[in-house]
Amino acid sequence: MKKFKKVLAATVAATMLISMAGCGGTTADDTAETTTENTASAEDGGSSETPADLTSNEGVLVWATNAEFPPYEYHEGDSVVGIDAEIADYIGEQLGLEVQCEDMAFDSIIPAVVSGKADLGIAGMTVDPDRLENVNFSDPYVNAGQVIIVAEGSDIATADDLAGKTIGVQLGTTGDQYVTENITDATVERYNKGFEAVQAVQQGKIDAVVIDGEPAKQFVASAEGTQILDEPLTEEEYAIAVSKDNEALLNEVNKILAEMQENGKMAEIVNKYLGDNAEAVDDGATQESSDEAVETTTAA
Ligand code: GLN
Repeated sequence: MKKFKKVLAATVAATMLISMAGCGGTTADDTAETTTENTASAEDGGSSETPADLTSNEGVLVWATNAEFPPYEYHEGDSVVGIDAEIADYIGEQLGLEVQCEDMAFDSIIPAVVSGKADLGIAGMTVDPDRLENVNFSDPYVNAGQVIIVAEGSDIATADDLAGKTIGVQLGTTGDQYVTENITDATVERYNKGFEAVQAVQQGKIDAVVIDGEPAKQFVASAEGTQILDEPLTEEEYAIAVSKDNEALLNEVNKILAEMQENGKMAEIVNKYLGDNAEAVDDGATQESSDEAVETTTAA
């Protein structure tokens, strides 16, 4: 966090440069290298389509994410890093494309993929029937699920105890959906950033947070006095969102994901980040942090 703030303060003018370079931190040099490599692999694959034709901007693979979701995507210095960032970089490398990251609100990711502003949505995004109406999903690359975070000493011990409580979620996520649809008489506070919801629990402003398990571990490690309840709420799978109009890219992504499972690359990436939960997150350093929820409703 400190590191990020320093960088932020010192380089406000560099912000434009950063966004132009893409938040994955791919350099021009990297791109030149991978382009050469991949011309060869495309030929080997016998694809009739050149990789450059696969994306909205020729030669560039734009992935949309919400970099508030460690260890899948989060800020480190001026880059977005994490499991999904490494997957995006690997896919770009295999396709010989320059990789650019667009960091946006979680609920803007699917619209960005639909409009072609982004080629891929890679955001710890759960395959979900509503989303499937608008985008295609790749084959899943990891299993996940929602958990409950409460303050230590809370009277909430299981999901049943959530009825009637004030529950924080990240706006537009499956956690939001779960609480809104399943918890009787809950007041749902929706945050843009999951960590802000956890801080609200810490400060006693809300009773609980429902959020994905791995970010939950990282957030709780950075918010003293909070804890995760043992019982997971849901079973979900993360996959990559691709436009329904771009089946060629979907096929390439699935091919690369299968290769990554086979050659151990996926395990290597996942273990690198999930193997060490001791490292605290870069807590909301990205903002003039307000822990106010952006939206509140009462669930059915
Ligand atoms: N897995 C959850 C979802 O898809 C949360 C993802 C996120 O917040 N990045 O809705």
